Amino acid sequence: MAGKRIGEGLKKRVGVFGGAFDPPHNAHVALALAAVAQLQLDVLHIVPTGQAWHKARALSTPAHRLAMARLAFAGLERVVLDERELKRAGPSFTMDTLEAVQAENPGAQLYLIIGADQFAVLKSWRRWQDILEIAIICVADRADSARTDAGFDPEIQARHAVLTLQLPLMPVSATEIRRQIGSGGASPQELAHLVPEPVARYIERHGLYISS
Ligand code: ATP
Repeated sequence: MAGKRIGEGLKKRVGVFGGAFDPPHNAHVALALAAVAQLQLDVLHIVPTGQAWHKARALSTPAHRLAMARLAFAGLERVVLDERELKRAGPSFTMDTLEAVQAENPGAQLYLIIGADQFAVLKSWRRWQDILEIAIICVADRADSARTDAGFDPEIQARHAVLTLQLPLMPVSATEIRRQIGSGGASPQELAHLVPEPVARYIERHGLYISS
């Protein structure tokens, strides 16, 4: 627990990892595990987004995405499913979630976990400067968008702590999974190496992504 960390303060460490999770896949799970271990988090909130303002396509229903996230992240130590954005009316904004989590954990240090593609566009997020003040950003490289190519303002990286999560590049995306199922190129069972097995079964049982 926090008190056992050598050379660290006693601040609680709370991670926030948001995503559409449509569907949640193996890179999401690997990222969550890496974040908990490497940042020594006391708790990591997995936050499925509502209708994210920056995603143009319609997402699968909140019920499906929540159910799949429960299956994908089930049993991971210190990881909790956080439904607040799904319950929020209107668009989801990360800063609102961070403020709420901070209010629930006064004095805690927040860590925002994102992939390199999201880090690259962070400056387009609502109240992005406040996000950099309230949380330490922790970035995982993606096979298709390395952080060095991201074009993110280097001045910001100089002024704010931005951590890199160590994990192997995983060339998996929800878009590609949906595309493969939609084009009939792969059955959900054949995609079992890309998503946790219970998620593959859920996709198949509910016929998700078939017409996407
Ligand atoms: P889509 O293809 O629909 O955009 P996605 O695969 O990017 O979906 P999201 O739910 O949008 O999945 O991602 C949630 C978070 O996980 C984002 O911060 C994203 O950058 C990160 N992420 C997703 N896939 C990877 C991956 N393969 N490697 C590292 N980070 C990833």
